Amino acid sequence: MSVIKVMSENLANKIAAGEVVEKCASVVKELVENSIDAKSTEIKVHLVKGGLDSISVIDNGIGMDEEDCHNAFLRHATSKIFKDDDLFFINTLGFRGEALPSIASVSEVELESSQGDVGSYIHLKGGKILEQKPSGRGKGTKITITNLFYNTPARLKYLKSENTELANTSSFLEKLSLARPDIAFTLTNNDNPVLKTSGSNNLLKAIHEIYGLNVSSKMLPIKALNDDFEISGYVCKPEILKSSRNHLITFINGRVVRNNEINKAINDAYYTYKPDGKYPIVVINIETDPTLVDVNIHPTKQDVKLSKMNSLTTLLYDTIKNALYESLLIPDAIKKEDVKDLNKAFVPLEKTEDLKEDTGVQTTMDFGETKEPVKNEEFKSLVLYPVGLCLGTYIVCENDEGIYLLDQHAAQERVNYEHYLKNLAEDQIMVTDMLVPITIELRESEYLEFMAHQNIFTNMGFKFEEFGINTIIVKSHPTWLRRGMEEESIRKIVDLIIGLKGDFDPLKFRENVAITLACKMAIKANEHISMLEIEGLLKNLVKCDNPYNCPHGRPTIIKFSIYDLEKMFKRAMN
Ligand code: ZN
Ligand code: ZN
Repeated sequence: MSVIKVMSENLANKIAAGEVVEKCASVVKELVENSIDAKSTEIKVHLVKGGLDSISVIDNGIGMDEEDCHNAFLRHATSKIFKDDDLFFINTLGFRGEALPSIASVSEVELESSQGDVGSYIHLKGGKILEQKPSGRGKGTKITITNLFYNTPARLKYLKSENTELANTSSFLEKLSLARPDIAFTLTNNDNPVLKTSGSNNLLKAIHEIYGLNVSSKMLPIKALNDDFEISGYVCKPEILKSSRNHLITFINGRVVRNNEINKAINDAYYTYKPDGKYPIVVINIETDPTLVDVNIHPTKQDVKLSKMNSLTTLLYDTIKNALYESLLIPDAIKKEDVKDLNKAFVPLEKTEDLKEDTGVQTTMDFGETKEPVKNEEFKSLVLYPVGLCLGTYIVCENDEGIYLLDQHAAQERVNYEHYLKNLAEDQIMVTDMLVPITIELRESEYLEFMAHQNIFTNMGFKFEEFGINTIIVKSHPTWLRRGMEEESIRKIVDLIIGLKGDFDPLKFRENVAITLACKMAIKANEHISMLEIEGLLKNLVKCDNPYNCPHGRPTIIKFSIYDLEKMFKRAMN
């Protein structure tokens, strides 16, 4: 039966020919998506010189008959779009009727396909059929593209180096493997393995196959829904952050998408769990009614527009934040060691950071879906016995699971931060008069800035009066200011008010006040504190909502498990 139909002229005109193919990765994308549409469960991509010399895609899909093989290279042939409206739906991976003829017109193509009976072979160059004959191939399709852009020198010179072209293809296939854990993907370059997934239909296993054990063992499952969206997938613990946004991987109805608002919601959920400029690894499936999605019409773009975007970003933000809140996030001091079965002959340049994590010994991992993450509540009942202070900076603790090191500044900063934030959000403000009012002298411009925002100051519970030229006198303050540090705190807050820029965002402002005061009021490194102070700090830390990070996202505590120690001292051999 012939699966491919010919698209209407009208629709065809909407698609600009040639825009689809601009690099080797876009050829791979078109071919692989065709394989997916053909219901393949196994897709192999073999490149020679990153695709510059040749690109082969071999699948075990439903295949094509002789007529399909021929029609596939006609302009506007497509198996999946029949009317204009379909363009606006995202349930298909895209529209590619244009792709194969476009690719064929600028390269040499050999296609071999079979639906299980007599297969067929077709060989084209520059879009012209050189040969067509029966073939003995089993069910599925093999397509090989060589000499890409041989007849369009202008485009040829835009192809990049072998490494760049390969990095693009590899990054695309990684995302696709995560979108489709039910399909086994293989990528090789010059016969060297680059990527391999098993098609187990287990997302965590696919994450393991792509990122290795150090990442897959640090992922937290998420699952939630509201009226419009259903989300599921994995988000990483804050100890394995990346320096680029590339690992915020999201799919809408099975299609890889990139959207700034979605990325922002995910990143915001990690607020204070990570430093600025670091990004988490997340793999999230978003299911929704296709009519809510408007795919950017340009076929190579991954951007989407959604009606009800707020509903989605709120769901993502709340779900991820909750997953982090509920988890025990003390990083192990010793990284899980891991080596992939692939001896990677090639590693894309941007991934050298990941490579470091992938050496050592293979450790097995259980991908059971039932494993619940360890809950944060356990941290709250965690008993740490303080041993002492090292280097005037690190608190050493122990319990029957191992040894813990705490950064005293970071830990106290967290305690202070949550204290200030809670008090700043309070409606009822307790105010106290100062025994000795403090005067603050400002420069003219500062004074004007301050007076323009004076209600922010008074709303916080401060009372002040003007006191001569460019000077204010503060007479009372909210009681939550740290005793003995009133003046310093007030000056800091006045500075923050003067520094306000743009629209006033009360939440952001409170955050700023809390972080600034928290840091200022915390014990510094190289300050020796007593055992009693250490005990007090530990007690307050375990009560925090997020005891694991300072408000700047740095860790407060790390763990050397007994197992890690035994391994280091070779008491345990595996
Ligand atoms: Zn600090
Ligand atoms: Zn900090």
